[in-house]
Amino acid sequence: MVNHSKNQQHIIIVGGGLAGLSAAEWLLRQSPTPRVTIVESSHRLGGVIETVSREGWLIERSADSFLSVRPEVIELVGRLGISKELVSIHPEARRALIWSPRKNNSGVLLPIPPGFRLLAPGQIVPFLQSNVLSCLGRLRVAGERFIPKQKKQCADESLESFAVRRLGQEAFDKLVQPLVSGIWTADPSRLSMAAACPEFFKMEQDWGSLTRGEKKRISQVNGSSDASGARYGQFVSFKYGMQTLIDTLESHLRSAGVKIVQDKVSSLQYDGAEWQVALGKQMARASGVVLAVPASVASPILATVSSELSAELRNIEFAGAAIVSLGFHRQEITHPLSAAGMIVPRIAGKRILAASFSSSKFSGRAPADSVLIRAFIGGALDAGIAELTDEEVLQEVLIDLKTTLGVCGRPIMVQVDRWHTSMPQYNLGHVERIKRIRQFEAILPSLGLAGSAYEGVGIPQVIHSGQVAAAQAIKQISSSSNQNV
Ligand SMILES: Cc1cc2nc3c(=O)[nH]c(=O)nc-3n(C[C@H](O)[C@H](O)[C@H](O)COP(=O)(O)OP(=O)(O)OC[C@H]3O[C@@H](n4cnc5c(N)ncnc54)[C@H](O)[C@@H]3O)c2cc1C
Repeated sequence: MVNHSKNQQHIIIVGGGLAGLSAAEWLLRQSPTPRVTIVESSHRLGGVIETVSREGWLIERSADSFLSVRPEVIELVGRLGISKELVSIHPEARRALIWSPRKNNSGVLLPIPPGFRLLAPGQIVPFLQSNVLSCLGRLRVAGERFIPKQKKQCADESLESFAVRRLGQEAFDKLVQPLVSGIWTADPSRLSMAAACPEFFKMEQDWGSLTRGEKKRISQVNGSSDASGARYGQFVSFKYGMQTLIDTLESHLRSAGVKIVQDKVSSLQYDGAEWQVALGKQMARASGVVLAVPASVASPILATVSSELSAELRNIEFAGAAIVSLGFHRQEITHPLSAAGMIVPRIAGKRILAASFSSSKFSGRAPADSVLIRAFIGGALDAGIAELTDEEVLQEVLIDLKTTLGVCGRPIMVQVDRWHTSMPQYNLGHVERIKRIRQFEAILPSLGLAGSAYEGVGIPQVIHSGQVAAAQAIKQISSSSNQNV
């Protein structure tokens, strides 16, 4: 338990999702330690991250794993003492499949060509041997290294334009679009390369080619270019699901004296010395604030503090999606499910974007002789799912799982999780918008904005955003910044 002195700073964190919890954990490590209060509108902490355990099933309502190559989560997990709970994807499931459409609505599930990462072919020979693309399509990708880089780098380019330019239309339609939509649930003709895939944008500039850039990257990371399986091994979760991270963070924060209040923050005001945080009918006072809520929620909260900042936040778009978790008796699915999951290109005319084979990836996700599959549906190009009932969403998913995986029976467990506005869209202009947001934020004293809407949606990036926002909130207030409020 931390001792609070009279002159201690008091930081209020609005939003108890991963970004807010990470901000609090960072603040507790500072000296002198501030007093920390988290205000969370729902009855639980964790935001979108939640694991449901029932009757032998372990169901993730949103994120089911994270990339362990960035240090933020691994270091946090180490500080919380739960490193032993981490589990990697089973070696036999360290690959993904792609639905390759054929005539008459039929098709076949094929492995993603070894070494192909999001937009970059790392190994050309296995790529040429894969049947995901036609011969012409494969040759077009093999020739990527001869496509000149854009002479004048434009400030931004859509993912679709970039991928078609470098890899050809067929590779975009059958490979890049489904790979990207599984992560961003975005419209690729609007998704900003600079914001969503800056690494590949830079590869073109630095190496003149994605093929060369990816080879270089792999040889630097692993000393070998055969890194496909190794990459899937970098995705980790917890033995008992992602909830372990949230529960451990919560008990760590509570035992260190962090106050957790269930209330909805409606507005912020700054009186020249302190922040006033409107929650319900009360006003709480704070020396600094971390706003770790979705940008669409942060916008009205900041309306009276900075109309410019509020307007920029309002312009970040969000898409909706649903995850349908389905349990089946093993014998009711003809496919061996020997992969982490599958992705489905839009040109296949199906409704699902992807499906994760949860029980193939990690142990303990399904009862004996059963399998757990999580299907993703919706996104920026299928806003119509918001109009469907859960039963209609389920029927759409079952139709697609029947044709792709040979599902023949009824599921023995169903859970539909709807995320109406939880997928921030990093559309064209996002990088410039975030620059402006950061400029407006910097003018305000001791205020930090955190969350997935800004500089990365993945769990490591969201933890990082919480830590950076906490540092902003605790920053000493300069007299010049005071005058600007
Ligand atoms: C369906 C889905 C699947 C995903 N899968 C993965 C994955 O596999 N791997 C990965 O790395 N990432 C994944 N992500 C991304 C990652 O989980 C999120 O980016 C991250 O958890 C977002 O955390 P956050 O704290 O920014 O926001 P949130 O989790 O949205 O938390 C915001 C919190 O603010 C609270 N709040 C809102 N309004 C108010 C208010 N007015 N007052 C007080 N509190 C308020 C909310 O109740 C919520 O608890 C996924 C995301 C989704 C939606």
